[in-house]
Amino acid sequence: MLDEWDETIPQGAVVVQKFGGSSLADPAGILRAAQRIARTREHGYKVVAVVSAMGDTTDELGDLAAEVSARPRPSDLDALLSTGELVSAALLAIALADLGQAPVTFTGSMAGVITDSVHGKAQITDVRPDRIRTSLARGEVPIVAGFQGRTKKGKKVTTLGRGGSDLTAVALAAALGAGICEIYTDVDGVYTADPRIVPKARKIGVLSSEVMLEFAASGCKVLHLRCVEYARRFGIPIHVRSSFVPAPGTLILPGLDRRPFRKPVREQSVVTGVGGVNSAAKVIVVGVPDEPDSMARLFQVLSRSGVNVQTIVQSAANSGSRRSDVALVVPAIDVSPALAVLGAAQGTIGFEGLQHRGEVGRVSVTGVGMRSSPDVVCTFLWTLSEAGIDVDLVEISETYVAAITGAERLGDAERAVRLAFGVALVTEGTAPSGRPPAPHQFVGGDMRFGYDLRGLAASPAMRGPLTARQITR
Ligand code: ADP
Ligand code: ASP
Ligand code: MG
Repeated sequence: MLDEWDETIPQGAVVVQKFGGSSLADPAGILRAAQRIARTREHGYKVVAVVSAMGDTTDELGDLAAEVSARPRPSDLDALLSTGELVSAALLAIALADLGQAPVTFTGSMAGVITDSVHGKAQITDVRPDRIRTSLARGEVPIVAGFQGRTKKGKKVTTLGRGGSDLTAVALAAALGAGICEIYTDVDGVYTADPRIVPKARKIGVLSSEVMLEFAASGCKVLHLRCVEYARRFGIPIHVRSSFVPAPGTLILPGLDRRPFRKPVREQSVVTGVGGVNSAAKVIVVGVPDEPDSMARLFQVLSRSGVNVQTIVQSAANSGSRRSDVALVVPAIDVSPALAVLGAAQGTIGFEGLQHRGEVGRVSVTGVGMRSSPDVVCTFLWTLSEAGIDVDLVEISETYVAAITGAERLGDAERAVRLAFGVALVTEGTAPSGRPPAPHQFVGGDMRFGYDLRGLAASPAMRGPLTARQITR
């Protein structure tokens, strides 16, 4: 048997196989990918390969541009960065032809990946893979350069943002009606934490795309965030697996109503990881008029300029002034554009000023049923407070609880939270110092903790829901 899924996906179906840069870092990696594709075809599937640039090529190209100019135009940078994927595609074609296959290489543009014109982080607006379909019908193996597309008007090359080949793969899988999208990488699946940093992290067998979404948003870079969003929206199952070993990896299934697998795959009741990212910054829009359309106007300005707002908190209006402050967390690279466009709109929106705080960190616990498990939130906040971490903002959703902290304390925050939740714990079930083991056992597929949480509920910070004022500083 080739795989767990080969019994469940009918022969003749399209399988999209994406090979990441780490899997194609050297000639041996290219050959491994070619063999993998050939074997999948021998089992009766049509394969569309999507490739990333080899190893650190994209970084190296970016460095080259920086040596030539301090401010390269984003469109020129896209033209440069997109070449890395072309090299991989051509080399893979050479290797596949030697195996008796009929490979054909496609740029993102030729593959029909149409995007908006935000260079450097273009969004896919349409996928028209007619040429890929024709190629498949001829019995060929289309190899698509990932991470790139072209604008509708002007047909200029764009890139989708770092790690964007994952998104190319899922978007093509959706457009081609593929049975599955396989993401081949240098780890054998999705773990409760980055296995390179946390050796005791555990591999997750199956998880829902909802949980994976939060996981990716929390800094788990094994899958690109937007690829998970896309897969969820279009109902594409993803299989994250190793390009080095044949064993099955982690299945990410979109929603329970779509069950492409005959074998029942049971979702773990709680699958939790702890993540931390520090490439964010906080912008505070001070004294926003308390009018119904103020927030919408703020967002309109930001979204038009391509700024990604990750978190927003509006403080309660001051009774006297009828104005409130709005705190925004944005990726660090978006701070300058955010300040520029907001500054330009100050007159029309009528806010009083702008402040910003350089790098902030976001530490989070991901799982399911977070909102209905106040204990998790309590433990999380208590742990941060015990570790002396200042918390700026708190986000709570059904699948995660996250706190914005100073970037300099992110590592400490992440360690404390990992310890508290038993992700990569030194000794499983050990509570942080001074806290007694509790009767309360919260057990999930990959997470367990057991502390006495009853005392926490009585602490002043935990009484009643937190207001924006309490959690914004
Ligand atoms: P590729 O080159 O295949 O796109 P990436 O470097 O983008 O690979 O992603 C794979 C890496 O993601 C792994 O090497 C691993 O260190 C990292 N990673 C971070 N968090 C996780 C996690 N929770 N589970 C698995 N891998 C993770
Ligand atoms: N080569 C691109 C990057 O390094 C895209 C990708 O790897 O998915 O970001
Ligand atoms: Mg990647």
